[in-house]
Amino acid sequence: MDAVDVIRTKRDGGELSAEQIDWVIDAYVRGVVADEQMAALAMAILFRGMTGPELSRWTDAMIRSGERMDWSQLDRPTTDKHSTGGVGDKITLPLAPTVAACGAAVPQLSGRGLGHTGGTLDKLESIPGWRASLSNAEMLAVLREAGAVICAAGEGLAPADRKLYALRDVTATVESIPLIASSIMSKKIAEGTGALVLDVKVGSGAFMKTREDARELAETMVSLGEAAGVRTVALLTDMSTPLGLTAGNAMEVRESVEVLAGGGPADVVELTVTLAREMLAACGMSGAKDPAEALRDGSAMDSWRRMIRAQGGDPSAPLPAAAAHEVFAASSSGVVTELDAYAVGVAAWRLGAGRARKEDPVQAGAGVELHKKVGDRVTAGEPLATLYTDEPARFHSALAELDSGYRISDSAGPVERALVLDRVSA
Ligand code: URA
Repeated sequence: MDAVDVIRTKRDGGELSAEQIDWVIDAYVRGVVADEQMAALAMAILFRGMTGPELSRWTDAMIRSGERMDWSQLDRPTTDKHSTGGVGDKITLPLAPTVAACGAAVPQLSGRGLGHTGGTLDKLESIPGWRASLSNAEMLAVLREAGAVICAAGEGLAPADRKLYALRDVTATVESIPLIASSIMSKKIAEGTGALVLDVKVGSGAFMKTREDARELAETMVSLGEAAGVRTVALLTDMSTPLGLTAGNAMEVRESVEVLAGGGPADVVELTVTLAREMLAACGMSGAKDPAEALRDGSAMDSWRRMIRAQGGDPSAPLPAAAAHEVFAASSSGVVTELDAYAVGVAAWRLGAGRARKEDPVQAGAGVELHKKVGDRVTAGEPLATLYTDEPARFHSALAELDSGYRISDSAGPVERALVLDRVSA
């Protein structure tokens, strides 16, 4: 086999053979195929796409590059959720313990944020003492204790994806539907969950800006999951405006705890309950306790506290707060007709809640708290949002970004937006 032949085949619109795919993934992990050769192949895939057989072989080769976890020793079915990433998307935090409280097990491997979208691990790390890195034995112990575990993927899980994703990130080859689908699904299948619900975000704050692209990504991932024996369902959900009232690590934990306590913003509650019902149905537990009841009766909160404690965290400890804050006020009166998710995500990122490079630190207390969202009436001078950071020099650029994201109109009423836009199943 020769890397140049593999690249040439794809560059010229040909179909890669199973042998070519197995070889190129394995040789890349071993360092025999160089980064520049894999970058050229990724770019050829971005332009030429992949056939169904190519994509399933590619995904399978990425799974086989590492270990495949197994939870068959548990006495309950496993189910998980993956979101393609959005602004204020803290849903995993209330969701995993809620589903656990209804009787299923949730073995969730999560990631850190990059760019304007936040990462679940960054959010949880704002809880004093909480640990993201667990061994497989520790994961099993937390699952037995709390019914849910949220932690970082170990080095042994889909190492081909780890290397390839880092390369795609710096070669403008992230935005390829087959490469995104195989990247996400190789990790989720290797994680060993029996059922999976995908939350595919659509809109300005998401990878997929249009419903058509999101549907194509969802259909591609659902067929990869089903082919690997994982019951997979996808929801397409709105990410044109942020979820909830907060975008920032510690403040999103605080909002999640409000939801677990039976309160919290309506959109966060709605998505948590909808995804929880889908997760339970996907693992054959639709007759179990209803997730809305688990939020009401305190059992979801009990699971949360057990899960945080089992990972070294103190669920009662005060969360870190930023050193400085600044209020962003409305310059005119009217109704908020637009609040752009991307602008809020970039503002939070500029305040220090996110990172530009994967080795950058994040500030636990930084972020944006929204006081007015789409449909709310405001008068000039009233606070629209409060910005938080440890470094006041960051306020200027974050305020400019937030200003570009709010639209206030004195006449037109807001358009009613549905949160769940579509559903894809096999
Ligand atoms: N998330 C992933 O894990 N992989 C991608 O390619 C894009 C988003």
